[in-house]
Amino acid sequence: MKFDRSLDVPPGLEVRLSPLVSRVLAPNPGPFTFRGTGVYIVGAGPRVAVIDPGPALPGHIDNLKRVLGARELSHILVTHTHRDHSPAAAFLKSWSGAAIYGLPLQTPASAHSDEGMVDEAHDHDFAPDILVHDGMRIEGDGFILECVATPGHTANHICYGLTQERALFSGDHVMGWSTSVIARPDGDMGAYLASLEKLKARNEGILYPTHGSPIAEPQEWLGQLIAHRRMRESQIVAALADGALAIRQLAERLYPDIAPALRPAAAQQIAAHLEHLRVRGRAAPEDGRWRLKI
Ligand SMILES: [Zn+2]
Repeated sequence: MKFDRSLDVPPGLEVRLSPLVSRVLAPNPGPFTFRGTGVYIVGAGPRVAVIDPGPALPGHIDNLKRVLGARELSHILVTHTHRDHSPAAAFLKSWSGAAIYGLPLQTPASAHSDEGMVDEAHDHDFAPDILVHDGMRIEGDGFILECVATPGHTANHICYGLTQERALFSGDHVMGWSTSVIARPDGDMGAYLASLEKLKARNEGILYPTHGSPIAEPQEWLGQLIAHRRMRESQIVAALADGALAIRQLAERLYPDIAPALRPAAAQQIAAHLEHLRVRGRAAPEDGRWRLKI
């Protein structure tokens, strides 16, 4: 796969991407956020929506207010509740009065052991005013956004289609600079693959991920992402064909050269694949190791 790591814009400035879409980069670069959270501003009129307002960094929130300036904020939309996406929503709401759209965390707080991974940790405090659902249309000043449920990266992940521009805000579900982290139990590989197929069957001409550059020809890229996960699953099945292995052993075989900071995420991806094999009756855990089932 040819990842696009070309994005090189300074944080904090509003960059126009199309007649209806502009983006402001938050100052939170990192191994999971790439150059930082891309906050999208939608609308060309005096009333605009924001998609994924970003992390709760005071300088970032003050800058967003300054960038929005005299424009009125009509909607605050959130693709999912990782801490690099949703925490600024409450601050923008108290400033503007705009309603927050999205879904709260779907799995119980007790199920998560992700607190060490700050960017990909969950925002347990996210409190949407309007619960979105698949197919729901949100009307703004000169634009309409269509909610497209895309569980997988998280159970509550929603993409937003911008009908007028055949564009879709793909959150962390589809990115061009990296594959998406699928971390159980909230992340689900089977749901993620189904959500990739769902977008592939649509006719958008461009995707705007929250991290990295826009993706032109998305159907081609979606096909590559699906093929990549199928290849990983085949590698896992091939490795287990020689005998049962622990997740750590599988990670060493499949990701021999990975940066130390990304090792936990690599193990999570393997765990997500193994669970996807388990629910289809193809593998099962046994004494801390995973074994293929005939
Ligand atoms: Zn995320």
